[in-house]
Amino acid sequence: MRRRTFLTTSALALCGVSLRGTGTEPLALRTLAGPGRHRHAVSFAPVHVSFDRVVRTTVGLRPHRDSGFVLRADQYDQKTVIHNYGHGGAGMSLAWGTGAIAADMALKHKERRAAVLGCGSPGLTAARQLQRRGFAVTIYAKTVPPDTTSNMSLAAFTPTSGLVDASRRTPAWDRQFRKAVEVSYKQLQQLAGRDYGVYWIDQFTATDDPDPPADQSDDSGLIADILRPSRTREILGADEHPFPTRYAIRTPSLSIEPKIYLDRLVTDFRKAGGRIVIRAFDAPQDLMSLPEKLIINCTGLGSATLFNDEELVPVKGQLSVLLPQPEVRYRVSARIADADGLTTSVSMNPRSDGIVIGNLQERGSWSLDPSEDVRDRNITAAMQFFGAMRVARPI
Ligand SMILES: Cc1cc2nc3c(=O)[nH]c(=O)nc-3n(C[C@H](O)[C@H](O)[C@H](O)COP(=O)(O)OP(=O)(O)OC[C@H]3O[C@@H](n4cnc5c(N)ncnc54)[C@H](O)[C@@H]3O)c2cc1C
Repeated sequence: MRRRTFLTTSALALCGVSLRGTGTEPLALRTLAGPGRHRHAVSFAPVHVSFDRVVRTTVGLRPHRDSGFVLRADQYDQKTVIHNYGHGGAGMSLAWGTGAIAADMALKHKERRAAVLGCGSPGLTAARQLQRRGFAVTIYAKTVPPDTTSNMSLAAFTPTSGLVDASRRTPAWDRQFRKAVEVSYKQLQQLAGRDYGVYWIDQFTATDDPDPPADQSDDSGLIADILRPSRTREILGADEHPFPTRYAIRTPSLSIEPKIYLDRLVTDFRKAGGRIVIRAFDAPQDLMSLPEKLIINCTGLGSATLFNDEELVPVKGQLSVLLPQPEVRYRVSARIADADGLTTSVSMNPRSDGIVIGNLQERGSWSLDPSEDVRDRNITAAMQFFGAMRVARPI
């Protein structure tokens, strides 16, 4: 069922925004110059949203644990298993770092041959970190890209997203996290601008209230400001952006195109001598037949059954992808209210494989089936939002 959603009328009235109308020409951001301060221009190409432009809807289950990811070594008979799983909504952001920590743990073992279980972002990056430290590595996985949760990701540098419940953090976990985020942020920056599908893009939060709420988030105190891309937050007034809200907050976002990125990691892994074996494991006893004594477990949600981790819970995500628009080079998110006062999020991320709409977070759902209702709500909200962008004008 398609539900009608409406933009907050007060926001529209305040902006004097026409509900008709996106033109075709890009709108140039006017420079609001204070002394010595210039804002760089952004070209706001209109986004064309309609149901017939949807080319696919994807679902992924984020592997969440309230107490955060698991990074520790366990012994199973003669096998040492280093766990590296439970990255929640941050597995594209943190994996180089957690992989580095896992690989450093592996260095304490005398073996220089290792098995990695899992071929998503945590598995591939852990495998690369092991190779960089001189290990011969084989990846064993039930599925490989493009059939992993990592391929269903948005994915931006969001190192604390859906990762940990603040009340469950411990000083030891915080130390692992800080190290992981530092390594990952550096590594992803180095991959930006090359052929890894890693890039910087302007992210806009369209809002009527530019003041962020007091920090009650789960990451309070976790990340140094220097590691937050959002530290250069710019508030644009109504005449500086085309969105139907009073303000738009601009932050730089470090982003990843999952398909390009994961395929490139597979290529790099193979070029460095790595092997990939398709194989599923049901229980720790199955690991005993592996030739490797050292095993890095990056099976994500698979660890719920494989290692009986009852704390793991899926957080379902669903994205709808519209036909690509290469001219759209900004991200935007907003919250809009429908006629019943219910709020719906609008989230738009342009990628080479399409315009990605939506970012569902549904805790506890194991269903890999797309919800039509969620898709309809996301697309309808995006149609309303982009339909209300102000008419573009040339500079
Ligand atoms: C909609 C959505 C948006 C997201 N946005 C972001 C974002 O913006 N930024 C961000 O950092 N993260 C984001 N994430 C989260 C990120 O995608 C996950 O944290 C990450 O993909 C988890 O990786 P994983 O290795 O745990 O799972 P996977 O990528 O699924 O990898 C697990 C691997 O283990 C294998 N495996 C599992 N069980 C077994 C078994 N029993 N035997 C053999 N092999 C097994 C699988 O086949 C697979 O190869 C998002 C996720 C979703 C769904």
